[in-house]
Amino acid sequence: MSEMLLELRGISASYGAIQAVSKVSLQVPRGGIVALLGSNGAGKSSTLNTISHLVDPTHGEVIFDGKAIHRLPSDDIVQLGLVQVPEGREVFKDMSVTENLELGAYLRRNRREMAEDFDKVYAMFPRLKERRDQRASTLSGGEQQMLAIGRALMSRPRMIMFDEPSMGLSPLLVEQIFESIQRLNREQGLTILLVEQDVRLALTVASHAYILENGEISLEGPSSQLINDPAVRKAYLGV
Ligand code: ATP
Repeated sequence: MSEMLLELRGISASYGAIQAVSKVSLQVPRGGIVALLGSNGAGKSSTLNTISHLVDPTHGEVIFDGKAIHRLPSDDIVQLGLVQVPEGREVFKDMSVTENLELGAYLRRNRREMAEDFDKVYAMFPRLKERRDQRASTLSGGEQQMLAIGRALMSRPRMIMFDEPSMGLSPLLVEQIFESIQRLNREQGLTILLVEQDVRLALTVASHAYILENGEISLEGPSSQLINDPAVRKAYLGV
C-alpha cells in the first residue's frame, strides 16, 4: 500500500484556448493535510475540479488509493471516498438542511449508517441540528459552509478537498471552520487537500504545501519551510 492516498502526475487542463493547469504533480499522504496555494486565477479550483473529474485533464494521471481515477465519472470518484467541498458552498438553497444532507448520501443505501452519519454531522455542527428544518437560503454564510462540509461527510469519505473554506466568513467563523477541518483529520483520520487564499492560516494547518502560479507549481515544501521562505513571505504573507 502506497503511503500516498492521492497523487497527481503531470496533470494539465484547459478551457478552450486557456490553459488553466499545466503539468501539475502533487502528492497527499494518507491521513495528511496538504495545502494548495496561489493567487486569484492561479488554477487552484481547476486543479480540484480536474481531480473530481468535473473538468477533463488533457494530460497526466490522477491516482487515488493506487487506482487511476481520471477517466472515471465524478459519482464513481465520490463512491471511492474522495469528495470536494466546492468554493462558494453551493448548497441547495431551496431545500432544508436535512434534505441537503440527504443529498450528500445519495450514493448510499444503508439507512442505519445514514442515521449514524446524521448524528455525527449534527454532533460536529449542533447549529445545523437546531436548524434542520430550515431552508438553506436562510442560513448564514458560516452555517452554509458547515452544511457543505456536513453534506460531504454524508458520503463517508476518506479524503476531502476544500476549496477556500474561509471565503467570505468572519474571523471567528473561519477559526471554527478550520477547527472542524483539523478535528476531522485528527479524530476521524480524514486526509485533506486544502485550497486556501489565506496562506498564513493554511500553512499553520497543513504539514506540506504547493504553490501554483499561472497553472504551474512554482514552489513546494514542508509548511515550516515555506512560512520562512523570503519569496513566500513577500508574495503571500505581506512581510
Ligand atoms: P480563485 O482563487 O480566484 O478562485 P483559482 O486559482 O481557483 O482562482 P481557477 O478558477 O482554477 O483559479 O482559474 C484558472 C484560470 O482558468 C483562470 O484564468 C480562469 O479565468 C480560467 N477559468 C476557470 N474556469 C473557467 C471556465 N469555466 N471557462 C474558462 N476559463 C476558466
